[in-house]
Amino acid sequence: MVKYLQEHPEVTDVLFTGGDPLVMSAKKLQEYIDPLLNADLPNLQSIRIGTKALGYWPYRFINDKDSDDLLRLFEKVVNSGIQLAFMAHFNHSNELKTEAVQIAIKRILNTGSVIRTQSPIMNHINNSANEWAEMWRLQVKLGCIPYYMFVARDTGAQGYFAVTLENAWKIYRNAYKQVSGLARTVRGPSMSANPGKVQILGVSQVGNKKIFALNFLQARNPNWVGKPFFAKYNPDAIWLNELEPIEGKEQFFFESKLVLS
Ligand SMILES: *Cc1c(COP(=O)(O)O)cnc(C)c1O
Repeated sequence: MVKYLQEHPEVTDVLFTGGDPLVMSAKKLQEYIDPLLNADLPNLQSIRIGTKALGYWPYRFINDKDSDDLLRLFEKVVNSGIQLAFMAHFNHSNELKTEAVQIAIKRILNTGSVIRTQSPIMNHINNSANEWAEMWRLQVKLGCIPYYMFVARDTGAQGYFAVTLENAWKIYRNAYKQVSGLARTVRGPSMSANPGKVQILGVSQVGNKKIFALNFLQARNPNWVGKPFFAKYNPDAIWLNELEPIEGKEQFFFESKLVLS
């Protein structure tokens, strides 16, 4: 990994994901992180840890055997001049209301790490604008930065959790319009699909036809980012593969250029 980062100066971030990297002991995690710090990589700006531990087991940061070692490891990253970005999965405001989670958030922030939050929008869990607004408000109050609202992936239990793209957008919009600018760092609803992260900008109308307006937040080709594109309106669509280009187009602009990996 160190060799790869030395050979690719354009890479600025390393993300530990999984699974969940925080099921590892602090000692194990340190075995991965120390070489990155010791290599003194000028391009390495941020180390991110994607985890649900804060919501699922906040005691990981309070009174597990190696809680203090873990926090010292975060501190070590920050003190070496690299940002430690804690990518926290919270799916519901209830996960932010216990004393344990609030203590855990404080302990992480005290290391100089930043906590950014993300969640999929899921039927039966958080399919309500008021719920999202409350979640984002609480996160900002506790010092976290709302980051992404995802569309539930096209895997396993998608059928049960699915929210239509149109409803995901309505919930995003109705939550976003209720909150302070400090919570409007959040972007979405976004589908992490093969060509990139596709945001549903909304449903609009051209002439007498309804359409979806879409946008790449991240893309395999950086030139695709930030160029709105359109799909036929489909009130039942729950994922990108159910969308079709508007009249006169065989495929979306990126499809001919897409090399599947
Ligand atoms: C979202 C995502 C990332 C992180 O992207 P950012 O927009 O920089 O947060 C990295 N890898 C994959 C596969 C992703 O879907």
